[in-house]
Amino acid sequence: MTDVKIRLYVEHPLGAGQRLALNKDQSHYLFAVMRQPLGARIAVFNGADGEWLAEVSKANKRNGELYLISQRGPQQNPPDLWLLFAPIKKARTDFIVEKAAEMGVSRIVPVQTDFTNADRIRQDRLQAHAVEAAEQCGGTFVPEVAELAKLPRVLSDWPEGRKLMFCDETLTGEACATDALSAAGAAPWAILIGPEGGFSDAERQALRGLPFAHPVSLGPRILRADTAAVAAMTLWQINLGDWL
Ligand code: SAH
Repeated sequence: MTDVKIRLYVEHPLGAGQRLALNKDQSHYLFAVMRQPLGARIAVFNGADGEWLAEVSKANKRNGELYLISQRGPQQNPPDLWLLFAPIKKARTDFIVEKAAEMGVSRIVPVQTDFTNADRIRQDRLQAHAVEAAEQCGGTFVPEVAELAKLPRVLSDWPEGRKLMFCDETLTGEACATDALSAAGAAPWAILIGPEGGFSDAERQALRGLPFAHPVSLGPRILRADTAAVAAMTLWQINLGDWL
């Protein structure tokens, strides 16, 4: 396989012999930042058609163009796993989105809980982080970052058949119930991580009453929300996902 160092996400159908017009940001990145010459080969993916080998057919810093040569890898979608998390400080929220894209979730859903401080998010910026993470980790899929939604609303609109791994900090110290997760069966699933302040008693009570929710412990120590997200995704992927 031709060795290529740059991978670029594009919103464009991919097929052999096609020409692909790059937008301003992509052209700036490829030709001003990465200084790719005419004829340079890079990889592109669009989240649906696998990974393609492309050649620079116009090296212009504002409106470059690629020529699509051939498919070099299959489309690989993550398991049907959503990550629900309460937005925290900017850098930690960015981290959670980046890690979720790397670890393999299909959708990222920021939720507003009783102890969430943020009342808005920069959805476009978070989506750009997910794209960057997919580009650098070799993935061909970019999870969608949903709009910030209130937790009760998300739970009342819950899709039938989707299970919820509810990471409940009051279970800290109890055995991590990976057997129970596996026994509950395969995807679709969602993981729920609370904010730094944890969940309110009312939220916990409501969550525990939901037939699709499976409360779990993440071990003997209280983890920060960003650490908890990574730990929960790892546990889920090992027991039910595509790391097997
Ligand atoms: N301030 C809270 C901790 C919140 S930690 C307290 O002191 O109790 C942030 C989130 O990470 C929690 O809401 C939970 O979803 C998750 N989390 C952290 N450690 C956990 C653990 N040991 N078990 C289960 N969930 C945990």
